[in-house]
Amino acid sequence: MTQQFAKLQAPHARHRFTRKPNLDDVKAAGHDMLRLVNRRILLSILSDRQPISRADIAKISGLNKATISTITSELLKDSCIIEEGSGRTTPIGGKPPTPLRLNSKRFGLFGVDIRSDETILALSDFNNRIVARNSFDTGADAGAFLNKIGKEIRKLRSKHESFIEFPGIGVSLPGLVDNHSGKFLLSVVLPWRDVPVVQLLEKATSLPVTIDNSARCSALAEIWHGKAQYAHVRNLLYVSVSTGLACGVVIDGGLYRGGNNSAGQFGHIPIDFNGPECRCGQRGCWDLYASDKATLKRYADIRGNGGKRVSTMRKLVELVEAGDAAATEAVRETARYLGVGITGLINGLDPEVVVIGGEITKAWGLIEPIIAEETKRNLLAPRSHSIAIRPSAFEVRPSLKGALTLVQNSLLSVPHMG
Ligand SMILES: [Zn+2]
Repeated sequence: MTQQFAKLQAPHARHRFTRKPNLDDVKAAGHDMLRLVNRRILLSILSDRQPISRADIAKISGLNKATISTITSELLKDSCIIEEGSGRTTPIGGKPPTPLRLNSKRFGLFGVDIRSDETILALSDFNNRIVARNSFDTGADAGAFLNKIGKEIRKLRSKHESFIEFPGIGVSLPGLVDNHSGKFLLSVVLPWRDVPVVQLLEKATSLPVTIDNSARCSALAEIWHGKAQYAHVRNLLYVSVSTGLACGVVIDGGLYRGGNNSAGQFGHIPIDFNGPECRCGQRGCWDLYASDKATLKRYADIRGNGGKRVSTMRKLVELVEAGDAAATEAVRETARYLGVGITGLINGLDPEVVVIGGEITKAWGLIEPIIAEETKRNLLAPRSHSIAIRPSAFEVRPSLKGALTLVQNSLLSVPHMG
């Protein structure tokens, strides 16, 4: 047995080998595949830890220095990375290690975040810095609207010619999405049905397009770009609290999409069989108690006839901040229901981190203790460390960050081998 093979068979390494090979789509670990995987691991290390020397990359990756030297030479030649401050000398005359960085101009990534009311189009560089951003009123005619977005993307491309390559467009959509057919299926907030988003946008831009729903996009953004303390997180649950309630699940660093591409619709798990009828045909779905729509309705019910109407969650949170008792009670009750559902999901999925997104997180000081109390009371398994429940904390909308991450994911993620 070679030393390397023996190392892979060691007991501590066994937990890494858990996947059944996919015999319908075999990708055996040939030389090219290994090269691709190592290249992407290096780019991911750089993206996360830059500036970083070759020696430090070797320490993190476990690759030997010769392999790192070969890959970094290729990446330099491809203009994917740059050497920082080369040519300096140390006080004793030696050459210091040259730190490496991603070349921000190598790739320009397009992200389109489509919501019922507003769509945001953004262009970011390879270092995830947004360099252009436009917003539009989302049109009811999907074909005409996507054509318009395509035209705007073409305009941005010619305005930002300094990018070497535009590898694609990521699109976040507010409803059910089929990644295989590239279609947006349906939504309760947008009157689009069976729209071939990928086909339409690819035709309009001649760029590859990837789509997913907004909760799953947001989950992907959190695992790639969430707070520093998520760096070691492999399993994450994202709960998007908006007009409806949807979730994104990351398992072992990858987005879980399920057999029919519809994973994450936990908002339609009934929590009360005697509850009101849901649009999905069941009764008492979680969505009916914890979505923004539910919270706004609860507030209206508490205020009663003649009470002040509030149409957006943002306004309701402002009322909470102003000390409005009815608004506070409505949001507190939603927090309890969020806690009930999240506890069930933690029991079922065992994530290391739960991230909550949506306007309601602006009232984090009010909702966090209630959610924490609920989860603490009802968790089943004993835990070696507590589960972090956090609000999403991006400077931009998580779903926009997620749309951009769809493209970045296609450049940096490692394939399943086997
Ligand atoms: Zn339902």
